[in-house]
Amino acid sequence: MNELEDAFYSALGYYGKNFFVDAKYARYSSLKAIAKLKGGVLTARVSDGFQAAPREALFGLALHLLGKMFNCKPEKGLVAPYREFVASRGAAELNHALTRRSGRKKRNRIVGKCYDLSQVVENVLNYYGEVFRGVRLPEFTWSTRKGRRVLGWHDDAWNRVTVNEGLDSKRVPPHVIEYVVFHEMLHAKHEVKHGKRRTVHTRQFREDEKKFFLKKEAEDWLQRKW
Ligand SMILES: [Zn+2]
Repeated sequence: MNELEDAFYSALGYYGKNFFVDAKYARYSSLKAIAKLKGGVLTARVSDGFQAAPREALFGLALHLLGKMFNCKPEKGLVAPYREFVASRGAAELNHALTRRSGRKKRNRIVGKCYDLSQVVENVLNYYGEVFRGVRLPEFTWSTRKGRRVLGWHDDAWNRVTVNEGLDSKRVPPHVIEYVVFHEMLHAKHEVKHGKRRTVHTRQFREDEKKFFLKKEAEDWLQRKW
């Protein structure tokens, strides 16, 4: 019996059920897993990205899947290792790599009509290289949907920053777009600690943010013109 089947048998035991288990790894483009129950056989297909997961995470995954199937809530603490594995940076990167493998990676649009985000990032690094030392830089892309109020957002799972396309305009001064990019890059630096509730702008984050020379000017402009 492999570790994966072991995890599902243990989870079945937890719910007081007894079925034959057929659990295998599959090549999915993300960290997904499915389970079905048919004719007394529990079939589970789990992304091979979970091969790197510790035993408790596999058990947690099985508890989570079967909990949905049997409509029972498993103990939170037992599912936590699974959630942590998925939330961890390693898993995020793996997810990324798997998606890349499948060729479904979202295309990034980094050169806008007015601003080239790679140039903006370069400027930011020129001035604030010290702030981002050792930080794994995110990918950058202009948003495709217009009209969102939010200026930019950092996607943890992808380590990707999307910048509102509305900022790709001549009327937006360079220090404003640099400030938005700087802010989102700080999100990549101050990654969200797993297991904790998401606190996006921590005290350390705000401290770093103050290092932007024209912070006040940029914020004033955004308040008045955005
Ligand atoms: Zn933010």
